[in-house]
Amino acid sequence: MKELIMVKYGEIALKGINKKTFEDMLQSNIKRRLKKIGQFGYERMQSTIYIEPLNEEADVEAATDALKKVFGIGAIQKCAVYPKDIEVVKADLGEYLKEALEGAKTFKIEAKRADKTFPLTSPEIQQTLGDAVLDAFPEIGVDVHNPDVTVRLEIRDNGAYLSAKRITGAGGMPVGSSGKALLMLSGGIDSPVAGYMMAKRGLVVDCIHYVSPPYTSDRALTKVQKLCEEMTDFCGDIMFYCVPFTEIQEAIRDNCPEEYFTVIMRRLMIKIADRFCKKDGYGAMITGESLAQVASQTLSAIDCTNAAAELPVFRPLIGMDKIEITEIARKIGTFETSILPYEDCCTVFSPKHPRTKPKLEDVLKAESAFDFDALIEKAVAETTVKRYKYGEETVFLE
Ligand code: ATP
Ligand code: MG
Repeated sequence: MKELIMVKYGEIALKGINKKTFEDMLQSNIKRRLKKIGQFGYERMQSTIYIEPLNEEADVEAATDALKKVFGIGAIQKCAVYPKDIEVVKADLGEYLKEALEGAKTFKIEAKRADKTFPLTSPEIQQTLGDAVLDAFPEIGVDVHNPDVTVRLEIRDNGAYLSAKRITGAGGMPVGSSGKALLMLSGGIDSPVAGYMMAKRGLVVDCIHYVSPPYTSDRALTKVQKLCEEMTDFCGDIMFYCVPFTEIQEAIRDNCPEEYFTVIMRRLMIKIADRFCKKDGYGAMITGESLAQVASQTLSAIDCTNAAAELPVFRPLIGMDKIEITEIARKIGTFETSILPYEDCCTVFSPKHPRTKPKLEDVLKAESAFDFDALIEKAVAETTVKRYKYGEETVFLE
């Protein structure tokens, strides 16, 4: 008996004439992930990618785990492949389903007959296999409405595929199918979640981070780099831009009214990110802002920050509360790193009484107390770029 993995599409299944482009992208994303595990063969049919292990290392369990984090996948099914002979399936089913049915009280059979030349109809297959399961596992009962386990048999062109476990995939669109965007990544809980959510919509997510040494430490930077590495699990390879922000923050502190420090700082962060977007071909920026979470995330503060951007700024967490965001952070594995207690440049020189309802004209006036252009140029020129590769040691580019 041969075991393979069927990957069912998520949203891609609904695409029209350009479906093939999305399928190609999903398949190449999958290949890149599984290359680290072993050698696999790929075949595509009827909105499904069939992934077959080709060598000893190609472990189906490990591959299934990796596939759970690939966007564009609706469901993952491990299955046994048999010749299209119901007697052969019945003879082996007790052995193959043992693990899946262990401890289950009820089951049902779902049969699908893509190959219409197969002599039995779907209800007939269901009846025959149901009896065979009851023979092999006498203590289990049938429940067609709410079974503990659904056993599926699909009769396809190339064989009969038996499976008992369908794992929900990560959903969304294949990373890269929507273009690329630059995530403003802090060390907090929110921004990695924001990156995850936009990668799920098919964006390549690269990261930009602002540091203010000596006010922020090396350990704070290391923490953010660790977040980047963790994000590659879902996002694939990530470019990491590290922007020296100390001089800009000192200039804000020395020249602008304290109550506007935070909003001006945010505007300058956006201006720098916008520059890299245009230079390196990103179509948008992403932030972890959530409405009303802090003083810099009120409607008027967001209006002032947004006015500094020329390209779109995506804020996927805008309508979520902290509990929902934290749940996702735990699920994607960034939470533990995010709560390490290191300072972010946002907390440097932060005002005691920030304006919660800043007006754009007042902010622009406060900002015009100093000409930041030369410092922006300098920060852009001194930015370092690093690449984080999925499952690999990091590589320094500059
Ligand atoms: P997070 O949990 O993502 O840090 P937060 O709730 O702490 O968010 P703020 O500190 O106000 O909120 O930051 C809002 C957003 O601004 C962040 O989600 C992030 O996108 C961006 N940001 C903040 N600090 C930095 C930084 N040092 N480098 C890059 N982006 C940052
Ligand atoms: Mg923060």
